Amino acid sequence: MRWWRQQRQRFATPSASSSTAPSILLEKCATPFPALIGNELSVTRPAVRIELCPEAYEVITSATADRLPVETGGLLLGYREDANVLVTHALVIDGEGASTHRYVRDDVRANALLAAFLTQRADDDPTGYVGEWHSHPVPSGPSQTDVAAMHATAQTSDGPIALLVYAPGGADPFFGLIVRRQRVGRVSSKKAAVVPPSS
Ligand SMILES: [Zn+2]
Repeated sequence: MRWWRQQRQRFATPSASSSTAPSILLEKCATPFPALIGNELSVTRPAVRIELCPEAYEVITSATADRLPVETGGLLLGYREDANVLVTHALVIDGEGASTHRYVRDDVRANALLAAFLTQRADDDPTGYVGEWHSHPVPSGPSQTDVAAMHATAQTSDGPIALLVYAPGGADPFFGLIVRRQRVGRVSSKKAAVVPPSS
């Protein structure tokens, strides 16, 4: 899997909207094997979710605060559970020439940090790349540029990937999108409920 070398992610700021759901995911964050997790939740929960474990949440919120007023972002690591994405870890990859409305992730640094992260994991640990995150210091949801970048990435990705936008100034600070390649090269994106860790 070398797809992440293929294009630089360019993200920019734009329009709004999102949703959230209550959380009961702490035990999942400590469990590296999705096979051990039952499917009983899927009946009562919203269509698709991006669930944030405490460590990932902490990294995203503190890196965003550190870099204000400019955007920052990075990679999401975790695993997939049906159509949902569980984010166990987040990596921060500073952008080149990031501004209040722009974040372009540094590919070389992303590859190096991802490789370093993965080498620390056990061979049977399913944790891997599941998507991208970046901040919007000016509160707004994913822009057209953001969505286009994710569609390009999804074209070369095996499974669904998540985009998480963190806009701390808004009433509803997380925006989520899950993007996946369909048959014959089409890409679909679905708005996802972002579930922060319950404290
Ligand atoms: Zn953006």
